[in-house]
Amino acid sequence: MARLTPSRSYGIPRRDFLRYVAAVSAIPQLIWNPSVSIAKEISFRDDPFALGVASGDPEPDGVVLWTRLDPHPLMGPSLPPEAIEVVWEVAHDENFSHVAQKGTSLALPQLGHSVHVEVTGLEPERWYFFRFHVAGETSPTGRTRTAPAPDTMPERLNFAFTSCQHYEYGYYNGYPHMQQEDLDLVIHLGDYIYEYAGAEGRVRKHLGQELKSLHDYRQRYSQYRLDDTLRETHRLFPWILTWDDHEFDNNYANLVSEEDGVSPEEFLTRRSNAYQAYYEFMPLRRRSFPQGPSMTLYRGCPWGRLANFHVLDTRQYRTDQPNGDHQKPMEGKVFDQNGTILGPKQERWLMKNLLQSPSIWNVLAQQVMMAPLNRGVPEAPLYSMDQWPGYEVSRRRLLQFFESRRIPNPVVLTGDIHVNWVNDLLLDFEDENSPIVATEFVGTAMTSGGNGGNVIPEYERAKDQNSFVKWYNSNRGYVTCELTPETWTAHYRITPYVDKPGSPIETPASFVVERGHAGAKQL
Ligand code: FE
Ligand code: CA
Repeated sequence: MARLTPSRSYGIPRRDFLRYVAAVSAIPQLIWNPSVSIAKEISFRDDPFALGVASGDPEPDGVVLWTRLDPHPLMGPSLPPEAIEVVWEVAHDENFSHVAQKGTSLALPQLGHSVHVEVTGLEPERWYFFRFHVAGETSPTGRTRTAPAPDTMPERLNFAFTSCQHYEYGYYNGYPHMQQEDLDLVIHLGDYIYEYAGAEGRVRKHLGQELKSLHDYRQRYSQYRLDDTLRETHRLFPWILTWDDHEFDNNYANLVSEEDGVSPEEFLTRRSNAYQAYYEFMPLRRRSFPQGPSMTLYRGCPWGRLANFHVLDTRQYRTDQPNGDHQKPMEGKVFDQNGTILGPKQERWLMKNLLQSPSIWNVLAQQVMMAPLNRGVPEAPLYSMDQWPGYEVSRRRLLQFFESRRIPNPVVLTGDIHVNWVNDLLLDFEDENSPIVATEFVGTAMTSGGNGGNVIPEYERAKDQNSFVKWYNSNRGYVTCELTPETWTAHYRITPYVDKPGSPIETPASFVVERGHAGAKQL
């Protein structure tokens, strides 16, 4: 969407950010262990675990267990404003005859009675089962897995990644197939929800208006999570998640709304509502606990010495999209030395994490396309100002860093664009003989955009005129990756339709990257 605030076309200085935050007194500052009263005799007439269970951010000795008590998730608060004590158990077996860890946790009213348990003391690289109890009610049994020990070399890692699951555009037909796969992990690259008001004439319909309040965001996450294909996939695998823009507001950048006339105070209040609801619904560690309108979501998730996931947040800290967003020539503010897509602090963290990484595969789990895709014509190239080529200084610095510091096997995972791409990332994309320094797998949407498989002329042209593109496809679906110490194999799974439930799954293409040789080859 057009951004009509050219006066705020660049990054907000830190002092202004703090001033705005201070001004937003309506933002409740959440704290851990608040002195709340604990509900004594609670009972439920309906299932308090309607939203299911989930787990995430696996480490060698533990994982985050998640649930949220809410018998009527689509209505307003239905529980008393008191903390509720919940018992959790982790076992080696599905019958819980061999319990590995158990304890209690408080479901806090300030966090919508969500529960985030950071279990420790588990063994590395094995499956566990978990469940919660409250007031005589027992949750569904979740299944989760710990990461391998840091100094070990696992023989394999299988995971699937997906993104962009607009509820109104269809059914999550990829998820039932994902559930059947032999996976260790699921990775979600953002646009988990969409913030828009319910619209007529689509496959399904959002409840409510465009999201603004904490209640609005909570209700939207509930509506999505009540989809049983999504809920069941959370029950079966640990997830590593990051967000893109629609968890808050389309194409936002830092403090800049896509709409005109939104004051920074109004925008920050909405952002804190969005971030809090995201935290409440996701199996995240305490390191990601929201601080008003800020939340640290970038983090490292190593998988032994086989793979290291550098999970990025390219939305919260970026400078405004240059040259008025949309598709523009690569010129002007694209080359501003102060332009940044990661923000200085996250970029420093990323480079340090890459340098210290002991792993064979260095995976950037992130949002927007890194390859500089010319969507115009050869004589008049155009690039998306919302993606990495709009932040060309950041993009080139990172690719040069891969090359100069000899970072082992960088692989970039991308969502956002609702179609599939496989790209070589060249050190200098204007030189066809440039070395390939990394591989980019762009995964399509789960549903956003509808059935897919249609001809999109702009992308057909882009596929042909950008020599670093290895493959392109416009279907919906997800990508399964099989990693060994020697090879990375990516299978592109597609669902032929999403406007009805229960589609089959197809694998139109698979690619392999060999260790030590950046760039994907089609199998
Ligand atoms: Fe999207
Ligand atoms: Ca997006």
